Amino acid sequence: QSQELSQARIDYHAALLALQEHGTRMVCTGKMHTDRICRFDYLCYCTEAEEFVFFHSNSSFMLPNLGPRRFQPALLDLSSVEDHNTQYFNFLELPAAALKFMPKPVFVPDVTLILNRFNPDNLMHVFHDDLLPIFYTMRQYSDLDDEARLVFMEGWGEGAHFDLYRLLSSKQPLLKEQLRNFGKLMCFTKSYVGLSKMTTWYQYGFVQPQGPKANILVSGNEIRQFASSLMEKLNITTRGGEESAAEEKDEYFVVFSRSINRLILNEAELILALVQEFQMRVVTVSLEEQNFPRIVKVISGASILVSMHGAQLVSSLFLPRGAVVVELFPYAVNPEQYTPYKTLASLPGMDLQYVAWRNMVEENSVAYPERPWEQGGIAHLDKEEQDHILTSKEVPRHLCCRNPEWLYRIYQDTIVDIPSLLEALRAIVKTRPNLKKAKPASTVHPGRVREPQCQTSVQATNEAKLTVSWQIPWNLKYLKVREVKYEVWIQEQGENTYMPYILPHQNYTFSENIKPFTTYLVWVRCIFNKNLLGPFADVLMCRT
Ligand code: UDP
Repeated sequence: QSQELSQARIDYHAALLALQEHGTRMVCTGKMHTDRICRFDYLCYCTEAEEFVFFHSNSSFMLPNLGPRRFQPALLDLSSVEDHNTQYFNFLELPAAALKFMPKPVFVPDVTLILNRFNPDNLMHVFHDDLLPIFYTMRQYSDLDDEARLVFMEGWGEGAHFDLYRLLSSKQPLLKEQLRNFGKLMCFTKSYVGLSKMTTWYQYGFVQPQGPKANILVSGNEIRQFASSLMEKLNITTRGGEESAAEEKDEYFVVFSRSINRLILNEAELILALVQEFQMRVVTVSLEEQNFPRIVKVISGASILVSMHGAQLVSSLFLPRGAVVVELFPYAVNPEQYTPYKTLASLPGMDLQYVAWRNMVEENSVAYPERPWEQGGIAHLDKEEQDHILTSKEVPRHLCCRNPEWLYRIYQDTIVDIPSLLEALRAIVKTRPNLKKAKPASTVHPGRVREPQCQTSVQATNEAKLTVSWQIPWNLKYLKVREVKYEVWIQEQGENTYMPYILPHQNYTFSENIKPFTTYLVWVRCIFNKNLLGPFADVLMCRT
């Protein structure tokens, strides 16, 4: 048990004096409870009351000082899932003088990150809600380093993937239930509370049907940096850029199978067909049969990952660039409505291809109406409701998490119709770019064009010219860019539409649609490689 917090490392008397004198101090970032992370000195936790405690003294402070708005609805989200009412954080207040009458505090000397894991038994949730947000919250605050202590307050046990959480720091993470072993009152010398939501890409459908988040702020680069860091800690080396000719040919499929439910019933036949069609090896993995490091190692060298829809598909974040993700959906489940893995594969710079395949043949499906409701059973429903579900051809949009029709359909087993899957795969696999070796696409954006100017002349009463010119963006002279283009927008003053032009050079004379004695507003920006847009230069006012 590595549960000692080594009180020896801190001067207990000094810590107690500091707590009594200064009380708790809090400074947060974020305007709302949904984007807030707070840093505390001497935040305490009472294990009997299961409440955090803020001790007021003459020198404590609390920013933001929200008064009772701190409860409307909460100071902050303790998990990365936005505004979920089971995941709120707040604290009780006490005067520091009350410490005299309370149990002796135990001090936690480590810099601590306090958070809720959202669903530590589900691999998608583990990565998306916890590991990635913890990893990048730790990078946001430099004292949350490898020595930081993680404290999980959601109240669950270790869960199926605790070893993954252990990789994030050298100290053993603490669970809520363990805190009471340390004493009745624990005080965190320095702590951060809450998680960055910057890396999350999916909302699970608590208030509107599930889908990609409205404003995704993460790119493939950050996901891959995280994946590399984890692989380094797992001692997994990738074959990397310089593959030998022999290795390059040794491409393989991975079939990630589920062995408990949502099965592929003809897996052996499917594997044979893949081997034959694409002349590649196939490796099967499952969470039940391999340990996770082994699975990561296999996936990190794969060309194609095939799996039923399910949390195990989050492992595609370990695929090499250029690989293909093939997600299989049971009968009556529309792939377009369940896109956590599609969204991941499609993040800018993730450089994965994604194909969904859906079972369209009801007879190829095996359902389990007699199972418990959480595994898709429907025996508990009225006859009418059961009939409705049994005859429906597609699950209508729904909210998370207990929709019986959804659970019934998603827990079906499937006989994969091999010809239709091969057809879906052929086009993609053949046109696959060899990104494994290619350099990742540049993400350097142009600067603003410099010294934009316009010159005008009037040719006749109904004929005028407008010449616009500019200098290249300052960063271009340091870059090798495949294609540099410029975009010019011209708007007649007072009109609410504009004409856009894409131009290859640094100047252009417009004569069509240019009227004499008129003022035009002109914007210019640079574009690298078709899609990397720079900022517009200051608007030009050009009078003909
Ligand atoms: N799981 C698995 N094999 C199975 C069933 C489940 O590995 O046969 C894993 C799954 O990948 C996830 C967890 O168990 O990490 C919970 O699965 P569940 O079906 O509840 O969630 P889903 O995969 O639909 O997100």
